Amino acid sequence: MSDTIFGKIISGEIPSEFIYEDEYCVVINDINPQAPVHVLIIPRQGISRLADAEDADQALLGHLMLVAGKVARQLGVEEAFRLIINNGAEAGQTVFHLHLHLIAGRKFAEGQMAG
Ligand code: AMP
Repeated sequence: MSDTIFGKIISGEIPSEFIYEDEYCVVINDINPQAPVHVLIIPRQGISRLADAEDADQALLGHLMLVAGKVARQLGVEEAFRLIINNGAEAGQTVFHLHLHLIAGRKFAEGQMAG
């Protein structure tokens, strides 16, 4: 767990609706969605940044990807979605508890990495 807003959401200190949860992660709607579907896949374990993940986190990181596919199917967007991880403040990371953004439901510009 981490002492961030996501740590507090996971611990229940801040109430939030989980659209998916399992032993290893929770999925919530982003409070400031950038697309019709914008959810956050958050491991219960509080790794602060992807760059701080270790070899021992391999299974967890793979699990988060599998959950992304599962949640995309659950939300009916499995044909077109984008996953984004911001690593570091200069890359736009604002919450220092690892999370994957799953974004869908709008047209993505071809070849464009973000936005
Ligand atoms: P990042 O900028 O990659 O660290 O992403 C943090 C994301 O968390 C942003 O898209 C915020 O809109 C989102 N966010 C911040 N606080 C909350 C919250 N309480 N519930 C849901 N999403 C949040």
